[in-house]
Amino acid sequence: MNDILIQDTTAFFEKSFGSSPQKTVLSPGRINIIGEHIDYNDGYVLPAAIDKVICFAFEKNNSKKSKIIAIDLNEEFEVDLTQEVQLSDVVWTNYILGVIKQLQDNGFSFEGFNCVFSSNIPVGSGLSSSAALECGMLFGIAALFDLTIAKKDIALMGQKAEHWVGINCGIMDQFSSVHGIEDKVIKLDCNTLEFEYHDANFKDYSLILMDSNVKHSLFTSEYNTRRLECEEGLLIIKNHFPEIKSFRDCTEEQLLSIEDKMNPTVFKRVHYVVKEINRVIKACEALDNGNIELLGALLFETHYGLSQEYAVSCAELDMLVDTAKEDDSVIGSRLMGGGFGGCTINLIKKGCENEVKRKFSNLYLDTFGIELKFYDVKISNGTTLL
Ligand code: ADP
Ligand code: MG
Repeated sequence: MNDILIQDTTAFFEKSFGSSPQKTVLSPGRINIIGEHIDYNDGYVLPAAIDKVICFAFEKNNSKKSKIIAIDLNEEFEVDLTQEVQLSDVVWTNYILGVIKQLQDNGFSFEGFNCVFSSNIPVGSGLSSSAALECGMLFGIAALFDLTIAKKDIALMGQKAEHWVGINCGIMDQFSSVHGIEDKVIKLDCNTLEFEYHDANFKDYSLILMDSNVKHSLFTSEYNTRRLECEEGLLIIKNHFPEIKSFRDCTEEQLLSIEDKMNPTVFKRVHYVVKEINRVIKACEALDNGNIELLGALLFETHYGLSQEYAVSCAELDMLVDTAKEDDSVIGSRLMGGGFGGCTINLIKKGCENEVKRKFSNLYLDTFGIELKFYDVKISNGTTLL
């Protein structure tokens, strides 16, 4: 699938600049098995890079200006590297300007380059095309100008670039885009950035994403509100248990013992967080033991936590998960990503995929008048220089 993308991107580069690219980079999107809304709460998450990528082609142009073409949008822009970068009204360019700013702020020196890029990661569906864009640009510029940058720092600079664009995201997306390994999930400690790989063998089940094709506008405001609610809850926990430094140190019993000290909404949010961190640990054990049915049950628990306690679901996602819960061929399902739209991640019995897809798409179309999309994803390598 990516061979065609690489060929097309290379051909577009040659047509645009009259030469062959000096560097070609593939930068993947990501899934997250479990541990949702946990990266910014300093707990554990379980993401993996996938076989959907942005392909970038680069060359030096021996000037102080860079020209970047987004093939999919049929748009291009130029940036003068001698001037301080400023936010632009054209959103996609800001991710790239943010990356250039990060490199400059961190003292890396580089000169003008030409770049074209094209993608098969669905945009805005929660597969983190934005992190793929940031990390691929960073990787490519580093390769072109022989800059030595550790993978971890690429992820951190990508995250800061996204903050500059205006999304106060955690580290998970950039980290998994850079550190992914084929057929492995990454158990990442978002507090220390320590990580370990676990085999991603789902045995008799296929990993399939269902794209609700909706994105409700609540997303950004509610995301920032959840961050504040969790900060407030953590402060109260710390006041009662001074030994607790972050949510991962807090047991459910400790939290329940101070329920009446918190506003009920804040309690629901932090109750979800404490339970979800424990679910990530259980999910890793289930994967290691080949107990995929248990993993599936944990996914459902996460969804109902996200829906009822963390309140980041919507009618479309709830319907998809409720339908999965009633279907014997689907052993686990939950909303994946920030919520209010985007995808659900599902474990579907091998051999039943087509039947499940038919049933869900008919039901979804009948209920919401919207076409449901499916992505069969394969867990793959992180950002790669070809
Ligand atoms: P997600 O990361 O879940 O896909 P975001 O809203 O965080 O969704 O990021 C999507 C944004 O990233 C797009 O609006 C666009 O600005 C930029 N982007 C992603 N893929 C591309 C692409 N192929 N071409 C141009 N811009 C892209
Ligand atoms: Mg994103």
